[in-house]
Amino acid sequence: MASIHESTTLKISATAKKLIANGLDIIDMGVGEPDFDTPKHIVEAGCNSIRMGETHYTPTTGIPELRQAIAEKLRGDNSLNVTAEDVIVTPGAKMAVFAAVQALLQEGDGCVLMGPSWVSYEPCVAFSGAGVSWGNVDENFMPLDLAASINSKTRLILLNSPSNPTGAVFDIKILEEIRDLAIDHNLFVISDEIYEKIIYDHEHISIGSLSGMEDRTITINGFSKAYAMTGWRLGYLTGPKECNKWVTRLLSHSVSQATTFVQRAGVAALHGPQDEVAAMVTEFRIRRDLLVFGLRELGIPCSTPGGAFYVFPDVSEFGGGDLFTEKLLKDALIAATPGSAFGPGGVNYVRLSYATSQARITEALKRIEKML
Ligand code: PMP
Repeated sequence: MASIHESTTLKISATAKKLIANGLDIIDMGVGEPDFDTPKHIVEAGCNSIRMGETHYTPTTGIPELRQAIAEKLRGDNSLNVTAEDVIVTPGAKMAVFAAVQALLQEGDGCVLMGPSWVSYEPCVAFSGAGVSWGNVDENFMPLDLAASINSKTRLILLNSPSNPTGAVFDIKILEEIRDLAIDHNLFVISDEIYEKIIYDHEHISIGSLSGMEDRTITINGFSKAYAMTGWRLGYLTGPKECNKWVTRLLSHSVSQATTFVQRAGVAALHGPQDEVAAMVTEFRIRRDLLVFGLRELGIPCSTPGGAFYVFPDVSEFGGGDLFTEKLLKDALIAATPGSAFGPGGVNYVRLSYATSQARITEALKRIEKML
């Protein structure tokens, strides 16, 4: 436990909130959650469920209606050949990642992460006793010579497209390369698709739908990002039966289940209108462009993210990610996350979240210009 660090993103978020409470005009670009409200019909479904007295335990794997709705979504959106029986509901996608990693890895095993990766993957792997090897990526954060990071201990590739923190979206060619490697080396793949709906000019493809991947892919998703439901804690996974068995066992002895009335809200999210998701993505795209072009105008190299709500500019010419982040907070009152939080490949970068208004992004760019 002592070797595993606290989540940098949650720590920064807590610091920013504290400074704001102290009266400082902090622009919080460290946030990992949409700045939109949960759509009303979803809130109502959760409240109605409480009022109806749905305040007792459910099965560990979730209520049948939600598992059914998720299975339909996975078949329709993701071309995954699954039924409700194959779906496990979890309290947040984070718990799904944690449980799947514990189910698949043990001491001495290896897991490949592709370049800068979400802060919790490496600790999840460390909890299992396994180790991480970092795959290389190119300047657009696409995998480079992935085979080089695979060795005799490797059991798992963990991929996240669209990616947090880079915003990279993997196309079919890259997914097929990963598929071929997974089959050649007999590996499992965890595909964390939590940013699936927050995507611009790209098509989201689930690697589990590619031929040969059905029995070796664990697909993870959740409600936090697409439906602005971070605090509700609702996610899910689907994987091979053997893996699902271990995940269920772990959940049954730890969290028991996702909160009962939250699961009803999840059904409403999947069955209800999807227009608020589309409106949120339209707004995110405007902000992305504002921030990417603004940073480039200031001479900071920044690739265009294809998804999620982060930009990951290269600040190597400005002292590297750690120093730049420190200066951002001290001199510009902007909270951000240093790229080093996302693994060794991130040291030259800083992650800026654009889950904040266009006005605040414009103000942040002005402050960065002054700081530079
Ligand atoms: N995966 C990634 C890549 C994320 O960015 C996050 C949220 N920061 C999660 C999983 C966890 O999401 P949830 O709120 O559903 O636990």
